Amino acid sequence: MRRIVDGVWEIAFGYVHAHLIEVDDGLVLVDTGLPHRAGKLGVAVRATGHDLADVHTILMTHQHADHTGSLADLRQRTGARVVAHRQDAPVITGERPAPVHHWLLRLSARFLRAEPAPVDRTLEGDGPTGVSGITAVHTPGHTPGHVSFLLDRGGGVLFAGDAATAMLGRVRASPKVTNADHAVAVRSAARLAELDFQVAVFGHGAAVRGDAVSRFRDFAARLR
Ligand SMILES: [Zn+2]
Ligand SMILES: [Zn+2]
Repeated sequence: MRRIVDGVWEIAFGYVHAHLIEVDDGLVLVDTGLPHRAGKLGVAVRATGHDLADVHTILMTHQHADHTGSLADLRQRTGARVVAHRQDAPVITGERPAPVHHWLLRLSARFLRAEPAPVDRTLEGDGPTGVSGITAVHTPGHTPGHVSFLLDRGGGVLFAGDAATAMLGRVRASPKVTNADHAVAVRSAARLAELDFQVAVFGHGAAVRGDAVSRFRDFAARLR
């Protein structure tokens, strides 16, 4: 586990991250990592001086199983409210199978399966998440209901999920094969450049600290 800024931690599950945010009345989790990792998350939460029961909200960036993997288990252990976008919620709840647009995803779906979990609040687009100081930004393309989250703290912390990724400080959209609609995903990643934030964290890729938004502006500029 790694502290990103005051009250924000990154928890790595191999190649994928979940993030923990300390708020006035407890903890918020952004994504839940791979399946069968609720125990590991519990250890991480205790290392921050909290208890799993302090997690009152789980914000989901999107429905992919490497992000929703431990959701059902964690919701049961914490009683937290689960928030996801309306368009990805039916996959998370198991009402609809995950759409498979590429053979790689079909292959990974055979090994990576998330238990369905209830979604308690659905998001329609940009706007409040129900957690004060955290706003949702609809960033479709990777999945139709992908959302990024903006935390109003220390000049802004962006939780980009898989709307973007970073390598050696260079920001770009997620790889084409992972995106349901790559052109839309690229537009969403570029749109994040219009926000204001100092720090950006990703589902995959290293966090960018200090004027992170300028790396997004560089990305948007490369498209022109
Ligand atoms: Zn994804
Ligand atoms: Zn991912």
